[in-house]
Parts: sequence; structure tokens; C-alpha cells
Amino acid sequence: MENQTILIKYAALLVTMDGHRREIRDGGLFARNGFIEQIGKSEDLPETADQVLDLTGHVVLPGLINTHHHFYQTLTRAVPAAQNANLFNWLKTLYPIWAKMTPDDIYTSTKTALAELALSGCTTASDHLYLFPNGSRLDDEIDAASEVGLRLHASRGSMSLGESQGGLPPDSVVDSEEFILKDSQRLIQRYHDPKPGSMLQIVLAPCSPFSVTGELMVQSAKLAREYGVQLHTHLAETQDEEVFCLDKFGYRPLGYMQSVDWVGNDVWFAHCVHINQDEIKIFAQEGCGVAHCPSSNMRLGSGAAPIIDFLNAGVKVGLGVDGSASNDGSHLLAEARQAMLLARLRAGLMGASLSTDESTGLFSARQSLELATRGSAAVLGRKDIGSLEVGNCADFIAIDLNRLEYAGAIHDPVAALVFCQTGNVDLNVVHGKIIVKDQRLVEIDLPELIAHHNKAASRLLS
Ligand SMILES: [Zn+2]
Repeated sequence: MENQTILIKYAALLVTMDGHRREIRDGGLFARNGFIEQIGKSEDLPETADQVLDLTGHVVLPGLINTHHHFYQTLTRAVPAAQNANLFNWLKTLYPIWAKMTPDDIYTSTKTALAELALSGCTTASDHLYLFPNGSRLDDEIDAASEVGLRLHASRGSMSLGESQGGLPPDSVVDSEEFILKDSQRLIQRYHDPKPGSMLQIVLAPCSPFSVTGELMVQSAKLAREYGVQLHTHLAETQDEEVFCLDKFGYRPLGYMQSVDWVGNDVWFAHCVHINQDEIKIFAQEGCGVAHCPSSNMRLGSGAAPIIDFLNAGVKVGLGVDGSASNDGSHLLAEARQAMLLARLRAGLMGASLSTDESTGLFSARQSLELATRGSAAVLGRKDIGSLEVGNCADFIAIDLNRLEYAGAIHDPVAALVFCQTGNVDLNVVHGKIIVKDQRLVEIDLPELIAHHNKAASRLLS
């Protein structure tokens, strides 16, 4: 893609999410080789480019960034026995089904999840793959992602604490620490690209306190820091986990993380629902990030994370749809709506004033979109995405405001995206390349993918 240029013009509103949160009316941008060179009013931009798009009547946003997912779970959505279970029972129901997955299942489910994410406005996705049955490898996911064209932060997950050792997963889906660490190192050396504009980064991600040994946590942190890659795991998702950590380790979940050297600017945790005020201070001091997954937390009855308290303390908070067996969808823009609504519900339940006092205003649509853009970029340790600014990646989405669901709301197009029910985006561009146009994936044969995916899912459930 040498010297390829793209120009967008005449957007009704271009939301930059830059340091000043500029929102430019009649805006556009010009990008070369995947990076933004100019941004501003349409009249101040170049006349032409290799690709020119007239976005009259559209709102343009930085591409949304997903900080937590398990792509493979798209194969096990709405499984009857797991529909009404809390986390631990949900996992125990699903582990034996997941144990039947093959490399092709990982490949296919990755494509399905990324297709759904792309249509919902996601341009960068982090995934957490933590079981590798029947010869599956993280490479299967990486291959599929490169075909869809989204940026990927592929977390090499792992489980090493089986039932016989006091862990939650059956022994059949856990691996030896030696193998996990060797494979982690192989993946970093083969794939990790830390440069600006990177399309692929590797993350080390032992699964959770109840499925991994302390020794694997310590060794994974050591290895990650040797190579400068990030660390990720689930934390403080449910009360069951808190009880497990207190019983087994004598610490609350965050205390356990501190004991295995898992705090720092290079660490982000999914969920962080059962976190107290003292622990929020530790998050802020250490620089740990949070992947907020509101739908999953509601779906599994886990609780509501203290997002406003995290943000007030200066903690990095991003947004995640979580795995598709506990959401059960991958619509990132809709997830921003869930984040806004759940924050408001929590405030109400906590007794926050809902009076007319503006200083206690409710969590806003713009704050919610900020989680999904700048917030998520910070959580993933990226400075080149999450906002539309000169020098940043040309990752952006556009949504036509002339839709039934926004009728009556276009006086504030940004709020409309979150307050109103929302569908798929009209345009999704990653690194200057069009992935979605007219609400359709450019490179993916969707009917064929869906048919193949459903065949794989019914095999797993049979
Ligand atoms: Zn998860």
C-alpha cells in the first residue's frame, strides 16, 4: 500500500476525541499510507486523493476499540444449560463443549466475531484465547484476523490449574506451565509488532485466579516484561472469585495480583466489578487498566463495576463486549449504550442524587463513547489509535444519520448514537483501508461464513 491516500469530506460532524474533544462540523480528513496527515473543515482539505468519500449527512468517529473478548465463544451462544447460570456454573457447563473445538473452529469463530465487531464500528480488537484443544493454536486466530483486516491484540491465554489441583476447569483443558511459556515466547518472537500503526500485538494472559497457578502468573509476568508485551487477565468478576481467592491465597483478588507481581502500567484486567475504594487507589497508583464489560456483567448477574469511581481516580477504563457466550453479541457501539445505562443504574442503586444538581450529572453518552475510543486505546497501551489527530492511524467509522432510529435526535448526533437503539455502521476504515462500506463487509462472504459457523456450532453441541 505504498503512497495510498484517502480523503473524506463534508461529514455533518467529525468527532475527534482529541485532547480538546473537538467536534468539527462539515469536517473531514486526509490520510496517507494509513496515517492521518490533515484533519479539519472540508474546505481546508486537499481536493483529491486515490479514494474520495463524500460523507454528507454522516457522523464520523474514531474507530471503536474492544478490550476484552473470547472470539471462540461465538460457537456457543445461548447454550440452553448455560443460559441461566452464574459464572462458575456457566463455565463448568461450557468447558466440556469447548474441549471439542478444532483449529478450524478457532479460525471460523474468529472470522465471525470480527465480522460482527467490524459492522458495529470496531477497528481494533483484543481477544483472549485461553484453551487450545485438539491442536488449536493462537496462530489459527491470527490467520483469520488478517483476512478480516481489523487490528488485533491477540492474548495468549492459558489454564494450568485443573480440577485435581483445586482449580475450576477439568484437567482435560489445562496445559503444562512449561508448554504454555514456550508457546508464549514463540508467539511473541514470531508476531509481536510494537511499532506505531501495528496491526498485530501479542499479550500474555493466564485466564483467571481460579484456573492458573501462582507460579505461571509470576513466570508470565517475567516473560512479558522481558519482551515489553502487555499482561491481561480476568479479575474481581464475581463474589465467588473473591471467596475463592480469600480461601486459597488469603488475599482478595487484587491483593493476589500484587503478590504475583501483576500490577503496573502494562497490566489490564477484565471486569473489576468487586473492587473497593482502597483497591481503586492501587489501580490508579500502579497504572493498571480496566476492561469494562457491562452486558456480560448483567448477563451473568455478576454486578456493576464502579466505573465512575475508577474514572474519578484517574484509572484507565476501556470497553469490552466480552466473550459471545456471555453477552451474546459483539456489537461494540451497542455496548457503549449498555455502559451508559448500567452506570446510571448503579448510581441510582447506590443512592446518588438524581436531583437537578448539575454537579452530580449522570454518566453521559460522550463519556461512554470515550471509553470505547480513547479509554480503550490507553488500556491497550496504544498512543496511535483512539482519537482522530494528525499522525494517528486512519481508523474511523461513519454512520448515516438519516435512519429511522435517529429520527428526532439529529440535533445531537453524538448523543443519538448512544441514546437511541443503534444498528451497523455505514463505513469502517482501518489503516486507511475500507473494511465496511454501505453496511456491508467488503472482503467477507457473510452467508457462507454463517453457514460454516452454524455447522461447527451444531457439531460442538451434539
Ligand atoms: Zn472474559
